[in-house]
Amino acid sequence: MDKKNLSRRAFLRTSIASGASLAAVGLHAAPVGIYKPGTYSAKASGIGDVVVTMTFDSNKITDVVLDVSHETPNIGQAAAKQLRQSLLKAQSADIDAVSGASITSQAVHKAAAKCIAQAKGEIPVEVITKTEAADDGDWLGKPPEIAEKDIVDTIKTEILVIGCGTGGMFAVAAAAEEGAKVIGIDRFPTGTGIRDDLAAMNSRYQKKQGTKIDKFEFIRAVTIYAAGHLQQDLVKVWCDNSGATIDWYGDRLAERGVELWHESGDKVDSAYHHHFPTGHSPRWRTSDDGTGKPLNGNKVLYDYCVKKGARFDYNTKMVELERKNGRVTGCIATNKDGKYVRYVASKGTVVATGGYSLNYKMLEALQPWTLRVIGRNRSVQGRSW
Ligand SMILES: Cc1cc2nc3c(=O)[nH]c(=O)nc-3n(C[C@H](O)[C@H](O)[C@H](O)COP(=O)(O)OP(=O)(O)OC[C@H]3O[C@@H](n4cnc5c(N)ncnc54)[C@H](O)[C@@H]3O)c2cc1C
Repeated sequence: MDKKNLSRRAFLRTSIASGASLAAVGLHAAPVGIYKPGTYSAKASGIGDVVVTMTFDSNKITDVVLDVSHETPNIGQAAAKQLRQSLLKAQSADIDAVSGASITSQAVHKAAAKCIAQAKGEIPVEVITKTEAADDGDWLGKPPEIAEKDIVDTIKTEILVIGCGTGGMFAVAAAAEEGAKVIGIDRFPTGTGIRDDLAAMNSRYQKKQGTKIDKFEFIRAVTIYAAGHLQQDLVKVWCDNSGATIDWYGDRLAERGVELWHESGDKVDSAYHHHFPTGHSPRWRTSDDGTGKPLNGNKVLYDYCVKKGARFDYNTKMVELERKNGRVTGCIATNKDGKYVRYVASKGTVVATGGYSLNYKMLEALQPWTLRVIGRNRSVQGRSW
């Protein structure tokens, strides 16, 4: 982001709230032209929230400020300059999308249209709090203040798994197999599922096909892929355990009549990176979930866990972890009715809420080099890596 943008964002931070009051002042001015002069802001969803702030005199849009700090750096953020110029030139929200940045362009279009409608007095003035645009590096923020009287229920368990995606479902299953009382919670109406192409080393499927991978050669290669930004001992944990995990998953699939195949792309000698045949994919096509639809990994593991006594609370979003003497004891979450509930886990809490590859503030604070890489961010909400 260049200096000009930075100062504009700084301006936004300090003046967005007052922008609304400026706008309100504008509303009281006598309407002599198309617009009620003043500064108006509006928000729309792009990759994150996009905030457009426009200043009007009676007949013209005189300035545009875009806060696209939650957009992908090399894509949406890079398109901001062009989008701003287009809005000023068009004197309208009807501008062409910037090629490759259609999501951000669409959000800018929507928010700009709302600013214009506010300036014409067609819709009420939108008030945007400055926290939305904060770029103070405080990615964690303050914990929410939740009054005891607002907590409507306390749910006790031995193990609490927060987030029922790829990792969480395996954690719930592992706890249930050990005979623990376990609850898995997820913010969505169902878990977000198990990915279909799963890598492993030394699975029985690989052994059967004679696939051999040298563990230390593999660790060396992924260290190069990651330009050294990784923890080798964690990769070794994966090397040592992924085969057994895939064998376990293969058993669960076999119980439902689904085959797991060891597959990998053809070895291309000219490829820059060394190819490791780690792939495993379930053959869902001939499967049936009992309603005539093909099965999926989430359904297979959900049914297995419930059979083993696990419980799932969906539409339940963790808002705060709770601690006693430094140890996490559970969490406070909002339930499906939007009410606060407390989970108390006597034996342990597993946080499996995924990665943060769409949280640019957190990336900037914890691994800024990632944001300097020239490439495309293919992360999607609920499927992090
Ligand atoms: C497009 C795409 C394709 C991919 N393809 C593959 C592939 O083929 N093979 C592969 O191995 N990997 C693939 N990945 C990567 C894979 O999806 C991730 O590595 C994996 O899902 C990470 O697992 P996780 O359990 O850490 O997080 P997730 O699977 O993201 O699960 C996190 C869960 O936590 C929940 N959650 C988050 N916050 C809260 C909260 N506050 N309260 C309650 N619940 C919460 C979410 O709803 C979600 O269900 C892909 C990723 C993407 C984006």
